[in-house]
Amino acid sequence: MTAQERQWPFLGQRIAVVGLGKAGLPAARRLRDWGAEVTAWDDKAPGRDEATAAGLHVADPALYFTYDALLLSPGIPHSLPRVHPAAAAARAAGKPILADVDFLYRAVRASGSKARFAGITGTNGKSTTTALLAHLIARAGLPVQAGGNLGPAALDMPILGDDGIYALEMSSYMLERIETLRFNCAAMLNLSPDHLDRHGDMAGYRAAKARIFATQRAEDTAVLGMDDPETASLRDELAGQFIPISAHTAQSGGVWANGSLLRDEPGLLADLSTCPTLPGAHNAQNAAAACAMALALGLRRNDLADGLRSYPGLPHRQELVGEIRGVRFVNDSKATNADSTAKALASYERVVWIAGGTGKEGGIEPLAPLFGRVAQAFLIGQDGGIFAATLAEHGVAHRRLDTLAEAVEAAAEAAFAGAADVVLLSPAAASWDQFTGFDQRGDAFRALVRNLPGGQA
Ligand code: ADP
Repeated sequence: MTAQERQWPFLGQRIAVVGLGKAGLPAARRLRDWGAEVTAWDDKAPGRDEATAAGLHVADPALYFTYDALLLSPGIPHSLPRVHPAAAAARAAGKPILADVDFLYRAVRASGSKARFAGITGTNGKSTTTALLAHLIARAGLPVQAGGNLGPAALDMPILGDDGIYALEMSSYMLERIETLRFNCAAMLNLSPDHLDRHGDMAGYRAAKARIFATQRAEDTAVLGMDDPETASLRDELAGQFIPISAHTAQSGGVWANGSLLRDEPGLLADLSTCPTLPGAHNAQNAAAACAMALALGLRRNDLADGLRSYPGLPHRQELVGEIRGVRFVNDSKATNADSTAKALASYERVVWIAGGTGKEGGIEPLAPLFGRVAQAFLIGQDGGIFAATLAEHGVAHRRLDTLAEAVEAAAEAAFAGAADVVLLSPAAASWDQFTGFDQRGDAFRALVRNLPGGQA
């Protein structure tokens, strides 16, 4: 602990941390190290065991809520579809339910640091835009910490000095639990139906996302994607300086793409066709947002093109994991809804497609306009049957299989036989029925491809 970090606002505060996963456990440890009286809890025994091993006090705060605040893991609902008992207890006691990012913000400000906060939300493209912005900031030579929903967790990050910038990917679940965090620069990329089970309806989801702008003041910057009406309609609710972005339409005072050319009013920013890890119109939206934020944060305009070109990309987002006998294997495991998968399908003329898992409302029906690109589909997971029914209705060749391993084998065989030169894993479904998360599913796909004959390049 540095001298600065000793005067914490958390000293003596009683904080209950519930949900001891990737974010919760580091949060509990850090808050304890900062002088809070932490009680940690997880409904599952392994989480509790880890907390005990870390020397944390473990008890269920739902039984008797005597705490100043509840830090609730983003994966745990505080209202819909079912309120968690700890959240109900905190509410009944009139205490705030907060996200770890809010504690990070308090800690940074309490340390006296003027480090800035950039927040990114939207239904799709959050991680890419966050990582891209962080890459641009790092190239400008400024200290940067990228994370939040993307990881690392907020309370796994160091306290940055005055010139530092936090680039935080913000999920709607985190945004619902912000009290003090104020973003110097915030962006909302797009909005389409997702997570409606947690937010009730589209209005609830939009309201949760809009919280990214709620604490802003006139000197802050608000970047808005103008390509869908839900996001664009937030314009009237902004306190900060408004910068519009678009993947296809010129925006006065904003940043937009015209084909592959990324522009702002002064002129050309970059040619995205020279940026190998940013293919497709969806990435034009991400690049426009990252550049708008970079400019608002004071980065040099002329450096942006080189930054976009050298961006290394993120795993599990249309990640090329192998090329065997002229067939490219693309891992887009992160695509957990139809909207994301649409971007991937639109990026290739013809694919052998692997999909399925725990489907979202509406399934893959919205992808019907892209089915012409699917030579053959291999469907796995809990909702593979529902997906199969949709494909059958549209006359798309498909097969149901049990596991990803079987699907990779069958898809490779079909592709090697000439069906298509791309095998695309873009599930349009969550992975929890068969995996611990999209990253484990993507890692499994990568390993399976490498195990194919000729895969070990
Ligand atoms: P998020 O963090 O919001 O889930 P990612 O950047 O991880 O977004 O991308 C997830 C998936 O969404 C990828 O499969 C990608 O193809 C698709 N995608 C990325 N950016 C966008 C965007 N701006 N609009 C729509 N889809 C996108």
